[in-house]
Amino acid sequence: MSTTYDAVIIGTGQAGPPLAKRLSAAGMSIAIVERHLFGGTCVNTGCIPTKAMVASAYAAQMARRAADFGVALDGSVRVDMPRVKARTDAISGRSRAGVETMLRHLDRCTVYTGHAAFRSAHEVAVADSVLRADRIFINVGGRAAPPPLPGLDRIPYLTNTSMLRLDAVPPHLVIVGGSYVGLEFGQMFRRFGAQVTIVEMGPRLVGGEDEDVSAAIHDILTGEGIDVRLNARCTRFTERSGRAIAHVECSAGSPAVDGSHVLMATGRRPNTEDLGLDAAGVARDDRGYIVVNERLETSVPGIWALGDCNGRGAFTHTSYNDFEIVAANLLDGASRSVSDRIPAYALYIDPPLGRAGLTVSDARRRGRSVLVGTRPMTRVSRAVEKGETSGLMKIVVDAASQEILGAAILGTGGDEAIHCVLDAMYAKAAYPILQRAMHIHPTVSELVPTLLGELKRPDGST
Ligand SMILES: Cc1cc2nc3c(=O)[nH]c(=O)nc-3n(C[C@H](O)[C@H](O)[C@H](O)COP(=O)(O)OP(=O)(O)OC[C@H]3O[C@@H](n4cnc5c(N)ncnc54)[C@H](O)[C@@H]3O)c2cc1C
Repeated sequence: MSTTYDAVIIGTGQAGPPLAKRLSAAGMSIAIVERHLFGGTCVNTGCIPTKAMVASAYAAQMARRAADFGVALDGSVRVDMPRVKARTDAISGRSRAGVETMLRHLDRCTVYTGHAAFRSAHEVAVADSVLRADRIFINVGGRAAPPPLPGLDRIPYLTNTSMLRLDAVPPHLVIVGGSYVGLEFGQMFRRFGAQVTIVEMGPRLVGGEDEDVSAAIHDILTGEGIDVRLNARCTRFTERSGRAIAHVECSAGSPAVDGSHVLMATGRRPNTEDLGLDAAGVARDDRGYIVVNERLETSVPGIWALGDCNGRGAFTHTSYNDFEIVAANLLDGASRSVSDRIPAYALYIDPPLGRAGLTVSDARRRGRSVLVGTRPMTRVSRAVEKGETSGLMKIVVDAASQEILGAAILGTGGDEAIHCVLDAMYAKAAYPILQRAMHIHPTVSELVPTLLGELKRPDGST
């Protein structure tokens, strides 16, 4: 059966549902299709469950450190994984139900469950229904994409999705990949009591960050007893007596890392290969991402791609921002562009890293003459009072134009404090404006003006 709508949305990730709401409020009829779990990655297998688990891991860590704060706990700290999982599932489940309920009660919105695939540039098939619309929005997200390493198919490896089903702590978790998914799971499971080894082929963790930030992250993790193997390229897997062995090419350390469980945290792939994009004429790049312009329009007029599947971001906030751009251009007569946004993200190890804009290395690669302010968290009063002094904060500005180029706050509250810099960057404020702002004491943010008063050239000269 064929039904015509004003708009069809494929996927209920971080862009599809708010877009459905806006289109509905504008009086349009909408069909929205979900083939698996409402809310997509963030809600079910990404941000929400992992940050709920990070909170459990933090509680365990603080309980272990209770005596440092003058608090006596009788008995040892024991992590009850089934309860950690139940708490996580409840938080994630409430969010999933919230998305589904909102969509099912939305005026002029019809929800379809099942796999959607294009039949033409204006038609999407879901089971035996055909949905017709002049505007189609793709929000299909992505999934874990372990590389096809020999032997991987013969071990029961884990991904971010199956990690969330564990209801016991693995004795020894080997994690392949030293970026945000691997590090967040690594630290939380270490705190739950697992032995953890992180295998990273690059020379440092979170290779996109400046070296001092990567080194501080490395210190935080190894300080908790995580074994970090750098310059170690995983080449194949074997299995012996129920244990998985990751074989690595390395110049130092053992060439075999043996663990009870393996988590592959090596990157993600867009869910675009089974979407019938060829039938619609929508172009993909060689990694499967849908090609979009600055307004997130695909190669076919009337079809947009939002969220992780367009390769222009890999975060909940970038997907939601895609929705805002598309909705504003379509409904408000705006001319918003994806290039207007400033890169920003947080890494939710403890303490977290909040990052806005460019690193020092990025800025210098772009030919900027930079000034840099850096301060260890041991010199941040709020961190000292909380007994959480790991990490550092740094800010980089353009020496000539006084533009704030970027900042990293790796420290307690860094995920929140970074926003004072991010917002000043959006306001295009020259750094002296932020330097003269009076911030509240005691906070991490109060040191941002101080940092700007202590700027130096990267070689240390003033
Ligand atoms: C472990 C982990 C932790 C993360 N933590 C963070 C974090 O802390 N902060 C952050 O900003 N980001 C985080 N992310 C990234 C974040 O989850 C994603 O960037 C975010 O969910 C955006 O996804 P999306 O909107 O592109 O689509 P998704 O959320 O992936 O949703 C796509 C939806 O489309 C559906 N779908 C796919 N194909 C079809 C089809 N053909 N027919 C019908 N439906 C279809 C899928 O079932 C899915 O529900 C994390 C990711 C992971 C894996």
